[in-house]
Amino acid sequence: MGMPGVGKGTQASRLRDRAGVLHLSTGDILRDAVQAGTALGRKVKDFMESGALVPDDLIGDVIGERLGREDARAGFILDGFPRTVDQVSILDRVLKRLDTELDGVYLLGAPEAEIVRRLSGRRVCPNSTCGEVYHLDSHPPRSAGVCDNCSSALVQRPDDTEDVIRERLKVYRDQTLPIARIYGERGMLVEVEATGDPDTVFARLESRMVKSS
Ligand code: AMP
Repeated sequence: MGMPGVGKGTQASRLRDRAGVLHLSTGDILRDAVQAGTALGRKVKDFMESGALVPDDLIGDVIGERLGREDARAGFILDGFPRTVDQVSILDRVLKRLDTELDGVYLLGAPEAEIVRRLSGRRVCPNSTCGEVYHLDSHPPRSAGVCDNCSSALVQRPDDTEDVIRERLKVYRDQTLPIARIYGERGMLVEVEATGDPDTVFARLESRMVKSS
């Protein structure tokens, strides 16, 4: 967990490559649904574009279904879920049903000014089989506006504009931060400083994971 733009997706996909387990990002699942125009996508589009959270019951259904599939048996990394106190209870129920539990909860932290800079410069590859993430300053594509891997035209996420970023940060403080306390009280929370480049953050994260396991 961590503020929008702190690097959860980047770190989770590195961890997936290292640990060989499923990476489940609720944000990615919902964006794919919006792009594909499914019933779920139509229900969540307006919430997402305004920076609000999608209703808990919709997310609960998505997670319950996804974690029940065969490919989640060997383990999974949750990215962007749970995000409200009620989602913690939803996750507890799903894990109980699947007879499994979390090994740890990792809270990535960085100053808010750094977050706004990162998000407003973020550009993403819209091709769902690629999804490479760039940054105009720190990780620009070789050719402006074009994905290095698949040559798709890069886009700015509609919720990465400055007003929506401020709203997402407020939502994070009000609705998501309280769950850090819950996992802290359960003795599961590990705080990791997420400033610096992705390699540095990954090294920090891994060293904390070794210690916490
Ligand atoms: P993210 O890519 O994690 O920043 O998520 C993008 C957007 O998807 C959020 O601003 C929410 O609108 C929605 N979303 C993602 N995960 C959740 C969640 N666990 N609960 C509610 N809304 C979510």
